[in-house]
Amino acid sequence: MTMTTKERIKRNELYEKGLKYCPHCKKIKPLSAFGKDHSSLDRLKCECRSCRTLLHNDYQRRNRERLRLYMREYMRKYMREYMRKHPQMEHSARDRYRKKCAENPEYLPNGKKREKPFRVLKQNGPRKRAKK
Ligand SMILES: [Zn+2]
Repeated sequence: MTMTTKERIKRNELYEKGLKYCPHCKKIKPLSAFGKDHSSLDRLKCECRSCRTLLHNDYQRRNRERLRLYMREYMRKYMREYMRKHPQMEHSARDRYRKKCAENPEYLPNGKKREKPFRVLKQNGPRKRAKK
């Protein structure tokens, strides 16, 4: 975005007072109302924080399905890789629960006693998908 000299002067005057104009809500706000952005010239975001929140929420709402798929793909790709590199990591709360159950067959998280003994599952093996 290019600025005219007049605009630049006005912007600099605002900076001297510790203020910045938000083009989104069209208000002049203190610099503390703007988030940091290391890629921009003034090291601050173009829009104020509250506008960014609105824009972010709006983006999330409009792209919910796409973001959900993206996250799923991300988790598949990178978490699997991470788990392979860190095999000592427990995979999930479920695995932690299973481990506890294997140690103490009567264990239940709510403090009750298990009626049926816990069935010990194979540990650390890849979970096989159910065949169709
Ligand atoms: Zn704003």
